[in-house]
Amino acid sequence: MLEQTLQEEWVPEEWAKKAIQYKALKKRINRVVEELESIGIKREDMVLMYDIERVQHQLVPRLTVRTTLEMEDLVLTKIEELGYSFTEVQEAEAGVCLLTVSLHQDALFFQTLYEELEELSRFRDEREKEIVATVESLAAEIGKVGGPSRRKSDMYLWREIFQLYIESEVFFSTRERSAGRVDVEVSRQRMGEFVAHVNSAGLQKRFHHRGSLAAFGAFQEMNMQIMKVANYQTINGIAVHKILKKFDKQTSLNSSILFPDILQKSFETNILNSTVCKDVCSVIAQRLLNIIPQLEDYTCPICCSVAFKPIRLDCGHLFCVRCLVKLQRKDEDKCPLCRQAVVLHADERNLDYARMEYLKLYFPREVKEKQTENEREIFKEQYGHIVDPDKPTCTIV
Ligand SMILES: [Zn+2]
Ligand SMILES: [Zn+2]
Repeated sequence: MLEQTLQEEWVPEEWAKKAIQYKALKKRINRVVEELESIGIKREDMVLMYDIERVQHQLVPRLTVRTTLEMEDLVLTKIEELGYSFTEVQEAEAGVCLLTVSLHQDALFFQTLYEELEELSRFRDEREKEIVATVESLAAEIGKVGGPSRRKSDMYLWREIFQLYIESEVFFSTRERSAGRVDVEVSRQRMGEFVAHVNSAGLQKRFHHRGSLAAFGAFQEMNMQIMKVANYQTINGIAVHKILKKFDKQTSLNSSILFPDILQKSFETNILNSTVCKDVCSVIAQRLLNIIPQLEDYTCPICCSVAFKPIRLDCGHLFCVRCLVKLQRKDEDKCPLCRQAVVLHADERNLDYARMEYLKLYFPREVKEKQTENEREIFKEQYGHIVDPDKPTCTIV
């Protein structure tokens, strides 16, 4: 069943070999059932307590059963005969005995499953490292072709691509009611839509540098790889869940609760749920998408266009100089964001030079547009009653 899913679900062949060995584990369950039967533990009501402990690198399940005094000798003889490692006999109440025993096949089943998960966890870590390395090399590559200092930079095209990518929410939803990680099928669909948007906007065709085209291809491939890893992890998580359910059904023991608990204590990340997306997506956001700043992070909160020239008030809030001058003219002293009285005493010393240079570098078009707008506004203020500044052919008399 799992084998079939692995084939159908877009999993590379070599990965399938490393997946949870569902069939083999199923056979192991049969052995546990036989083992329980061999010592005479057949009925559900005999089991009093079941626990799995991790002792160093071994998983030790302990089963406590109730037997009647008449049965006790029989069960104990069987246990001794079969050479089980740990037994304890207590007389609980008159006529009832409690035996705690560690069974071999039982231990073997969990040990096998645990080791397979360890292997999977290593495998996932390796894939994650590969993806992070791709993110780093893409950041370097796109930094070269989309960097602001380069002549004919592809910066504006990459900005648009990253903006479309962020809006596509390939791996996580923030807008829907069911915010959070999305199903791999949805991821695949959203990725397709994102590429379609990039194509319909003709962004790829407008690249100046061949390196950009290659980087865009690598960016798509990297996203597909993340989906594959996430998908693989989900399939394995489901397999573990199912095998534990099967174990419980056939043995009447409660491994579905105990085993995930052990995993949680032993592994740093939740290996039954796909966490690769979360880790990798934050790396993509911080180390790749961040290399090209988005305008929305640099706009003035009053006029909503680029905050040029940026005046940083004493409260720390930043506005464009035009909006600040307008506030001062209205004799408004309170910062529109935090209401502190900081506006009226602001002057040229509040100009944030570093930010201004940054904006010139990363948003040259917006800055130029804003400067033209400002000039037009100043002109209108001074000569608006005489001439329309939008018609520069008019001469001022
Ligand atoms: Zn403004
Ligand atoms: Zn403020």
